[in-house]
Amino acid sequence: MTEPQAGSDIGALRTSARPNPDGSWSISGTKIFITYGEHDLTENIVHLVLARVPGSPPSTRGISCFIVPKVLPGGQRNGVECIGIERKMGIHASPTCTMRFDRAHGELIGTQPNSGMAQMFTMMNAARLTVGISGLGVTERAQQAAGSYAAGRIQGRAVGAPPETASPIIDHPDVRRMLLHVRSHVEAMRALSYTNACALDLADHGSTAEERSGGRERAQLLTPVTKAWCTDLGSELTRLCTQVHGGAGYISDTGVEQFERDIRIAALYEGTNGIQGIDLVRRKLPMREGAVVRELLDGIDATAPQFEATMREQVRDANAALRQSTEWLLAQEEPQDALAAATPYLRQFGIVLGGFHLARQATVASSDGALAGSARYFCEQVLPQASALVPAVTAGCDALQAAAINL
Ligand SMILES: Cc1cc2nc3c(=O)[nH]c(=O)nc-3n(C[C@H](O)[C@H](O)[C@H](O)COP(=O)(O)OP(=O)(O)OC[C@H]3O[C@@H](n4cnc5c(N)ncnc54)[C@H](O)[C@@H]3O)c2cc1C
Repeated sequence: MTEPQAGSDIGALRTSARPNPDGSWSISGTKIFITYGEHDLTENIVHLVLARVPGSPPSTRGISCFIVPKVLPGGQRNGVECIGIERKMGIHASPTCTMRFDRAHGELIGTQPNSGMAQMFTMMNAARLTVGISGLGVTERAQQAAGSYAAGRIQGRAVGAPPETASPIIDHPDVRRMLLHVRSHVEAMRALSYTNACALDLADHGSTAEERSGGRERAQLLTPVTKAWCTDLGSELTRLCTQVHGGAGYISDTGVEQFERDIRIAALYEGTNGIQGIDLVRRKLPMREGAVVRELLDGIDATAPQFEATMREQVRDANAALRQSTEWLLAQEEPQDALAAATPYLRQFGIVLGGFHLARQATVASSDGALAGSARYFCEQVLPQASALVPAVTAGCDALQAAAINL
């Protein structure tokens, strides 16, 4: 997809496709930042390439999708080559390539040009969910490293430990706070990711048409939240895991700083997290005039009475705050106000869903002490942020527009 002038703005892409007499196409242009655009792990690489055919309408309406193999069926090399590999902050095992297409032989996907965006979107929800899950996975791994380091690193005497002894840092409240903060978020992210994946499965394999359309709508609504919330948290929480290691965390040989570097990309690619927020407020909230999001919020309120008293109140309060923000957004006529609210709203959405799922898990698996501890921590320490975000969401864009940003 990506070209130098066409990143978030895919509609600006210029790669061209000219028809050949035999019905195939001749593709020319340059793509940048292409993951595994070139490698020697397989004999052939089949590229999916977005390009414009002659006379296509402007913007995303005029984009078509082509299959362009590195090696053609007859064995000869196609006109596609890697002309550069980026040096970058993390994911060093993943080649990020600049690709040049010089009259490369391509085949149109489908029968009609200008269907490229719709075709890409058939993959988009699954791709964005997968990137969200990478936030979860890398944080889980960093958490394991931080937990085992904290159990073995001896510093200072914890309150209540015998005199003249030193304690593992895991016994100090501030270290426990960091570890529990990470663990409770990991469990919340996991629950959200599974819920999102379940909605995608129902969209494809639900037993009735109603179940399939319900799954499709729920997946549409949840996917930007899973992608952006889990990957923003991936960056924040891996940083916290470095913090647990003290100075050793900053030393490359310890290995934990790699998690911070590797996960940073997940907030940027597959649609930046800013773009996910915009997708949520501009395309997903208006689905069925707001009925899709309201059904989700109603479901949370309907389930909360099953929770023990304190968590019930915390989840209800947070959900009321999310409802207030949602109704405000649905009522906005000025797109600028909704756009300004997109990122704080997505954060609020993630927090409420995270707290709800943790409370629900703790209720269903009531004998699981670790889950109960995570749920209690999250509901006490994190869920109240949902109410605190209402003013940021509903402030409108005046302050952003009025402020002078001096460069
Ligand atoms: C390591 C790596 C691997 C990648 N792999 C691939 C790949 O395999 N295939 C591929 O096609 N691409 C790939 N990409 C490209 C990636 O998807 C883009 O970098 C990403 O979509 C952002 O585009 P951009 O870099 O041009 O940033 P820009 O679009 O220039 O965005 C810059 C900033 O402006 C914000 N912004 C932009 N437009 C708006 C708007 N309308 N409203 C509000 N904010 C906005 C963004 O959120 C961001 O914060 C990869 C990138 C990297 C770094």
